[in-house]
Amino acid sequence: MAYKAPRGTVDILPTESGKWQELEQLLRTICANYNVKEMRTPIFEHTELFNRAVGDTTDVVSKEMYTFEDKKGRSITLRPEGTAGIVRAYVENKLYGMPEKLQKVYYMGPMFRYERPQNGRQRQFHQFGVEMLGVESPYVDVECMLMAVTVVKALGLKNIQLHINSLGDQESRDAYREALQNHFQPVLNELCHDCQVRYEKNPLRILDCKVDKNHPMMQTAPKTIDYLSDNAKAHFEKVCALLDDLEIDYVVDPNLVRGLDYYSHTVFEIISDDPKLGAGSTVGGGGRYNGLVEELGGPQTPGVGFAFGMERLMIALGDDHDDDDEGLDVYIMPLGTEAKDLAMQIMTMLRANGFTCDMDQCDRGLKGQFKSADRFHAHFSMIIGEDEVQKEVVNMKCNHTKEQVEVPLENIVEFIENHYEGDHDHE
Ligand code: AMP
Repeated sequence: MAYKAPRGTVDILPTESGKWQELEQLLRTICANYNVKEMRTPIFEHTELFNRAVGDTTDVVSKEMYTFEDKKGRSITLRPEGTAGIVRAYVENKLYGMPEKLQKVYYMGPMFRYERPQNGRQRQFHQFGVEMLGVESPYVDVECMLMAVTVVKALGLKNIQLHINSLGDQESRDAYREALQNHFQPVLNELCHDCQVRYEKNPLRILDCKVDKNHPMMQTAPKTIDYLSDNAKAHFEKVCALLDDLEIDYVVDPNLVRGLDYYSHTVFEIISDDPKLGAGSTVGGGGRYNGLVEELGGPQTPGVGFAFGMERLMIALGDDHDDDDEGLDVYIMPLGTEAKDLAMQIMTMLRANGFTCDMDQCDRGLKGQFKSADRFHAHFSMIIGEDEVQKEVVNMKCNHTKEQVEVPLENIVEFIENHYEGDHDHE
């Protein structure tokens, strides 16, 4: 039987992993720039965590989770998103008691959702996300948005738009819930079964229903922004004013509600019309979640964050990345058994000295070995034939200048170092 990767998963091959590492490095650099530290949480959690945090009327929880029982009969779920695990860990490790009240963390890694695989949708995909916990302030909302905008700009994405909206505080949400119920009540029997359940449990979720999305009452549904309490309105106005001050372009999008239940106040999305991604693609989004820490058993603690789909960021990064500078320092080309024995010694010595190095293990002729040196972008090809073994030297060919010299075994390291010093192109 021929094994295949499960539907909706992909292998990242050695030819592609360099580009992933480049993306990860860029994200880590931006995080350091913003003083955001990494947090790593388990890939699986107790199912109850996601039911609670993400909400059991959301599509993610009700339809898309990879849930199974472990050998002791506990219900376990592969994480479909990152915030729930981060907040669980924040509470469990009492990070709310740290001297630094504002905890800023980031994560990146695989997430799992049982969705129909299609262009840009996988069952195992990757997210990069940031969470800022502990301070309820429009300034922190804006810091989060700034960071999200910095990421897409650093990737060179063109035509990006920051869409923002406010869902308000509990008071606003209660008023809005009632307005939504009044709005949909007359057409309730025209909506899908899921929406009829949502109507009772969580009417906000009707707005992101994939089945009823073209129902005429969707267009005329009340807008969250018209139901904000004075407090919530002041928070949102300050967010907008700060964005104006910083000259960050944004669009207030009253239809933006986000697909997860934990949001309150500010929500935002980054939408790109870059041809690389296709018009109107959401690259990522986030928002404030003031009730979540308490919901998961911690003290009342505000939070705000965002997540990006890394596969989309990868597309944004494009194919023009330069892997030349990842080339090997030395590719060793032995001819014959004795030369191979010596090559192993030299390779080990060079690696111990911090040089990147490899050798031919396929007993090929020079031509084939030179091709490998080329493929690995080797700075030097080191040729060792029978003569060289006898004379206790190696033949060093610089693949940039094409110069070739004989170097005694004991001088190899010195030779490479001197050569690099004189070569201004080499970093
Ligand atoms: P969400 O957690 O649903 O707000 O998603 C945040 C981002 O993750 C989205 O904007 C997408 O870029 C990405 N994303 C979500 N689900 C998938 C998926 N199944 N496959 C690939 N990317 C995804």
